[in-house]
Order: sequence, then structure tokens, then C-alpha cells
Amino acid sequence: MTISNTVPEQFSGYAALEKQGDTFTLEKHSYTPRQFEDDDVDIKITACGICGSDLHVLRAGWGPSKYPAIVGHEIVGRVERAGKNSGHSVGDIVGVGAQCNSCRQCAACKDNNENYCKKAWCATYQGPLKNGEYTQGGYADYYRCPGYFAIKIPEGLDQKVAAPLLCAGVTVFSPLKYYGCGPGKRVGVIGIGGLGHLGIQFAKALGAETFALSTSKSKEEDCKAMGADGVLVTKDAASLLKEYAGTFDLLLGTSFAPDMPFDTLYMPLLKPRGHIIQVGLPEERLPGIQPQAILGKSITGSLIGSPADIKEMFEIAVKHDVKPWIQERPMADAQQAVQGELTPVSIYDDW
Ligand SMILES: [Zn+2]
Ligand SMILES: [Zn+2]
Repeated sequence: MTISNTVPEQFSGYAALEKQGDTFTLEKHSYTPRQFEDDDVDIKITACGICGSDLHVLRAGWGPSKYPAIVGHEIVGRVERAGKNSGHSVGDIVGVGAQCNSCRQCAACKDNNENYCKKAWCATYQGPLKNGEYTQGGYADYYRCPGYFAIKIPEGLDQKVAAPLLCAGVTVFSPLKYYGCGPGKRVGVIGIGGLGHLGIQFAKALGAETFALSTSKSKEEDCKAMGADGVLVTKDAASLLKEYAGTFDLLLGTSFAPDMPFDTLYMPLLKPRGHIIQVGLPEERLPGIQPQAILGKSITGSLIGSPADIKEMFEIAVKHDVKPWIQERPMADAQQAVQGELTPVSIYDDW
């Protein structure tokens, strides 16, 4: 084992000490990480993205959260301590997304579907630990996890740019890949926010004709800069369907509102055997859908991506210059940044 003396016994970050409302209060908080094992790495964090999940968990919007809560699961940093079975060396630049462990033995895990492991899925923060504690995330100085879930960041990818790819990027990349996004396919990206702006870039990188579906034309210039072939305004469903009904192979749903027009617009836009992939995970239920609307079509969900997906995504991001549009803030401004106006999510959110 290579041990660097620089890793402190306690890790420190910015934590919510109780359930948050509309205003966030994050306070400095130190904790003792779980015991270091041979397949672990300790990462000195250099960048951490802000994900919509962070806000849901701080507000306990998906169910009860555990406090103190340090969130952040788009972690990039330098390996400072590498266990002998970690697959890494001190000095490696790595990233950790929303998942920090799985059983690595079940059928899903053996099939590169660790993100669907039902046995031992461990979330990067709030995840259960053997010692009865729970994981703390990346708005912090250090992170400890199995090296298997720490993915090498390729050279040529800026660390701050790589961070949002670890959750937002692979969340859109993985389903696009598995549902056949590629040359000759037409893909629509619904909602142009943190997820959507990466969805457009990855759909184009994979070779598809790509449209942004938005409630207005106001983001047309931005969408074109991301590589979109056009922006379709969803407010006027009738005229949109006149031209585009039955022409889309895939629709990627990256935003959510309870009144989204699944059966009156999105389903009719699909070709037979087309798919809507909903990747934004709302706090509400999906709206009811007329059974007739899904004949020959499907609506599916997708949850982040596997370590193999993340590696492949990084290669494509470097090759095709896919880049999240980010604002950079010092970690000490985490509270202000998560409050909203400074995050890419809020800048580009569409609904
Ligand atoms: Zn996330
Ligand atoms: Zn498993």
C-alpha cells in the first residue's frame, strides 16, 4: 500500500445540519471516514459539480435524509492514498459519480450494470456503510471510496469540466448509447438545463440528428452552439406534430413538470419502436398516460451509468469536445452556489 502522510484523520466539508427549506444553510462540518480498506482510495478533492440531486437531498424531497448531510457526487481529485487492490496509484486524477459501491458479484454487476445492482448499491453520499454510518459527499476536502468506482480522468479533460460529466454527463450518455443513438437516428432532447445541454452534445457526438425541444425559442442560439440541428417549440403541439409526428427515434426527457404532454405530444412524435427516456427524477409521480398512446412505443427511465459507461463517456467527451457549460466557484461558496443562481442547472433549466 502506498500511504501519503497528507491524508488527515478527519475529512471536512460543508454540511446541512437539518432539513433545508427554500434557503440553504451549509456549515463547516468534520467527520471521521470509515476504515480504509485495501481496495480503497483517498481522493483530495479539486472540483465537485452541483447536481439537482444535491438539492433534493438537502430538502429531503425524495424522502427522509440523514443529517449532517454533506452532498456532492460529481467529485474530481487526486489520489493521495491508494490501497494495494484499488487499481490506482498516488497522483492519479480520478472522478467519482453518484455511486461509490455495489456488490460487484450479482448478475447486474457482472454485466457492467453496477448502477442497477439490487444487493449493495451505495450512494456517494447518504449511502449505507457497514459500520452503521452513512457516506458523506464531495462538498469537502477528501473522499474515500473503492478505487473501482473512481474513474481515471483522461488527459486533455479539465478537472472542473470533468466533474459534472460524472453524474449529469453519464445520466444522458448511458441511455443514449443503450437505446441506439447514432448516425441515421433522430433524437429530441426535452428541457435544456444541466442534463439537457449535455444530452444535445452527446447525441450529436454519437452522430444523431439532434433537436432541442423547448417551451420557447429563447435558447435557440445556445442550443445551436451546443450543436443542435434545430429548436422545436413545444407550446404549439398541433403545428409541431404536422411536421414531425412519427419521426423521432428517441426523446430524452431531462426536465419534468406534472403537466408535461406525454400522450398528446411526446408519444406521437416517436416512430414505431421509439422510446422516451425519462432521466430527470421528479419528486412527483409521472402523469397518467392513455394506453393507446404507447402502442408500439415505450417510456423508460434510466439511472446514471456504470463505471464502464463513465470511461467510454470520457473518451467520447475528449474526442468530440463535449463540455458542460459551467460556472466556477470556490468551494467556500458552496452554500451560495447551491442556492441556485450560480448553478448551470438553474441557468439553463427549462420548465
Ligand atoms: Zn447527480
Ligand atoms: Zn451487484
